[in-house]
Amino acid sequence: MELSRQKCPYCSSRELSVLQSDSGQYFLSCIQCGARGPAANDASAATLQIPSSSENLLRTVIDEAPDIIILKDWEGRFLLCNQALARLYNSTPEQMVGKTDADYNPDAEQVRFYQENIQAVMQSGQAQVVEEASTNAQTGEVRYFQSIKKPLKGPDGSDRILVIAHDVTELKRAYQVIEEKEKRYAYAMEAAGEGIWDWDISNNLVRHNPKWCSMLGLDGRLAEHDMAILETLIHPDDRDDMMAAVDAALAGGGEYSHEHRMICADGREIWVYDRGRVVEYSEEGMPLRMVGSISDVSARKEAERRLAETNRIIEANNEMLEQQVAERTAELASLNRELALQARRDALTGVGNRFLLQDWLSEKALDSATAVIMLDVDHFKHVNDQYGHSSGDLVLKAVASCLVSHVRHDDLVARIGGEEFILVLGGISQEQAYAVAEALRQKISELTVLPDGHGVTASFGVAMLACRSFDQTWLEADAALYRAKREGRNRVVTSP
Ligand code: GH3
Ligand code: MG
Ligand code: MG
Repeated sequence: MELSRQKCPYCSSRELSVLQSDSGQYFLSCIQCGARGPAANDASAATLQIPSSSENLLRTVIDEAPDIIILKDWEGRFLLCNQALARLYNSTPEQMVGKTDADYNPDAEQVRFYQENIQAVMQSGQAQVVEEASTNAQTGEVRYFQSIKKPLKGPDGSDRILVIAHDVTELKRAYQVIEEKEKRYAYAMEAAGEGIWDWDISNNLVRHNPKWCSMLGLDGRLAEHDMAILETLIHPDDRDDMMAAVDAALAGGGEYSHEHRMICADGREIWVYDRGRVVEYSEEGMPLRMVGSISDVSARKEAERRLAETNRIIEANNEMLEQQVAERTAELASLNRELALQARRDALTGVGNRFLLQDWLSEKALDSATAVIMLDVDHFKHVNDQYGHSSGDLVLKAVASCLVSHVRHDDLVARIGGEEFILVLGGISQEQAYAVAEALRQKISELTVLPDGHGVTASFGVAMLACRSFDQTWLEADAALYRAKREGRNRVVTSP
């Protein structure tokens, strides 16, 4: 190693070695403190002087700059470069002087581009910003740069170019990631089977996928629009409710789901199930973006409507049926009452029969002031024989009507045999009962219902209940009637 006799201006050491770069230039380097001198063309001219403070400052700025700084000549030889490039090319700024990119960059294509590009810029005379890539000599890693290229002239008028290259690799990768995500998002929007909406809240812009547009028959015309337009597509009757759900999600819930009607381009209404969620908030917690989807649920809604309609019809029918059943039941009850009444009435004369007598007795509490009067039409067989059966019926009706019209409303009149009647009179003495029987006998004998004007007579037996049972009293009255018959008919006999 050749040594210089000079003294190091930094550490005063006399151990300065003379070094030669690959391009043949000479340097002095202090073995003690590592200081290096500027390049010289021959060894004897090499020096190691403290550079002026402004030169020193400039060199420091260039070396410390994070961006790559290069000064090249027309052929692309490095006249100057800083540490940033030296690191990329795994060399030193001094070693690189006089060399070209081809000495360090393994990518011939990149090198050719640099060379053609700097010559084009130098020819244009205009500074340009160029996007370019550079391959690390050692690792092979490709990094991306945004380079400002400014053509200059050397002291001898030769072409030079200053390149300041800013490493945008990380930025580019970030953009690539975003681009990839955008691509995937766009694909998802395209391919989704549901109508998707994406609301940029701060700009009030809504984006939709093609499915959303086709659902509403909009042919992609409203793929992106103002939020206010979306509101007009919601059925007016559902709008307030729907917007209230959205507002609640924005105010804190973060998500909502809602079913409402939307108006299609052709005026058709469809039912949609809409759900949305806030997917982005500002640092202050304000919602920035909301994403959601709609599904067409018209078919389900129609089925529900039909089901409700059917239920309504069934309910109405049920009500009608219930009403009909109630009416029929009332009719039947009335008919039953009528039948029950008829069953207790004598069909020919309309007075009571034995059944009415039984009912009447079971309902009434009879006291001793009750009279039982039995009567029987005299020689009725003869009436039938002489005037015919229908004339006999007329007689029976006339007798019955005579009986009913001469007793009180709550007294009982019943036909208990062919031409035999019973009367049960309450609140009456034996004398009064006799008087009633006598009056009736008289009235019957005055009836003129037979064709030739002849009348009929009847015999009566009267008995008071007193302390006896009704059946005993009835027997007594019957016995009295028998006596009346025996004693010549057309008379009243009272049981003792
Ligand atoms: P007496 O004075 O002893 O009572 O004599 P009678 O003829 O009235 O008695 P009898 O019992 O012999 O005859 C009763 C008749 O009444 C016999 C029957 O044909 C008739 N008869 C019974 N029920 C009816 C009826 O509903 N209509 C008619 N027309 N006749 C009847
Ligand atoms: Mg008789
Ligand atoms: Mg008789």
